[in-house]
Amino acid sequence: MEYNTKNYDYLIVGAGPYGAIFAHEAAKRGKRSLIIERRAHVGGNMYTHKENGINVHDFGAHIFHTDNKEVWDYVNQFTEFNGYINQVVANYKGELYNLPFNMNTFYQMWGVKTPEEAAAKIEEQKVAAGLSGIPKNLEEQAISLIGTDIYTKLIKGYTEKQWGRKATELPSFIIRRLPVRYTFDNNYFNHRYQGVPVDGYTAIFDKMLDSELIDVQVNTDFFSHKEEYLAEFPKIVYTGMIDQYFNYELGELEYRSVRFESETFETDNKQGNAVINYTDAETPFTRVMEWRHFDKKGDENKTIITKEYPQDWDRTKEAYYPVNDTKNSELFKKYRKLADNEKTVIFGGRLGNYQYYDMDQVFNAALKAVEKEFKD
Ligand code: UDP
Repeated sequence: MEYNTKNYDYLIVGAGPYGAIFAHEAAKRGKRSLIIERRAHVGGNMYTHKENGINVHDFGAHIFHTDNKEVWDYVNQFTEFNGYINQVVANYKGELYNLPFNMNTFYQMWGVKTPEEAAAKIEEQKVAAGLSGIPKNLEEQAISLIGTDIYTKLIKGYTEKQWGRKATELPSFIIRRLPVRYTFDNNYFNHRYQGVPVDGYTAIFDKMLDSELIDVQVNTDFFSHKEEYLAEFPKIVYTGMIDQYFNYELGELEYRSVRFESETFETDNKQGNAVINYTDAETPFTRVMEWRHFDKKGDENKTIITKEYPQDWDRTKEAYYPVNDTKNSELFKKYRKLADNEKTVIFGGRLGNYQYYDMDQVFNAALKAVEKEFKD
């Protein structure tokens, strides 16, 4: 027993939300876990750090939003939320529009002032584009929902650089993440509960993992000793990439990656909003975050701006987004079959389940897995 030195009940691979919730709940039930994390910190892509008094989200803007009261109550055990409501502004070649698509956007785009006028404009553009029936891809879905003008200025460029492929080759569900509403309401989400933790996200993980029954080893790669871990631990919770677990034996699933560039400025308000999207095709970044606007905190006269650049994924880069198109979804199903045969391994999280999960969905999935595991 070189790895399972303390007779751990679980090896948890990955210290993101799925793994951390599992470890926390297992500890509550008297079970001991070892969490190994390839990166140098806990929290997965939810990780935040404080700089100049500002909570910086190292892996892109994370706004917790959900309709699931159970999940909301659960996460509120570990932090207080600040009531932040995300209201994104889009910059298309210098023209500014409110997102998500709502009466403000329609007014800015067309000068229309009533829901009826807006609906008529969208219908006219949908008909002119020759669209009827079920949309076959993201482009058709977008034009059906909000017309050609908004598609051209606010969606096409952003989407194609974000995903590195044509909008006609992307699944329509991606654009349905964004609300379309005929009211003057700029809230980016429709969910009842929303906010950002007052002390950043990392504090949630520190609390969750604060137990004598949980040990965390960062900078530890599961794959450098996979066979030994499998032999020594009675049960494993694996939250890494499902295809990597199987050594890519059926082929590689595709992911999309992003990278970030941050800069500090001597002001407390650089861009006037937490998130500004750059929706043209030419600007190489998709969005710019100004962190102090997420929780109105930070040292005087300091602000940190982060630009988000989409990039191709390869095995040397972090996998951020699964590409849930038909080809990859079919391949995932095959991996899922293999996973079903691994009786001592639970696969979870965005990468383990190859799903475009939001945080609340990962929380929910982890709580369901806990329920199943400890049902007796
Ligand atoms: N999207 C867009 N224009 C925008 C913002 C989003 O076309 O200004 C599209 C784009 O295809 C994106 C999808 O909507 O991938 C979902 O956006 P969301 O903000 O939910 O993406 P995430 O925050 O998960 O990256």
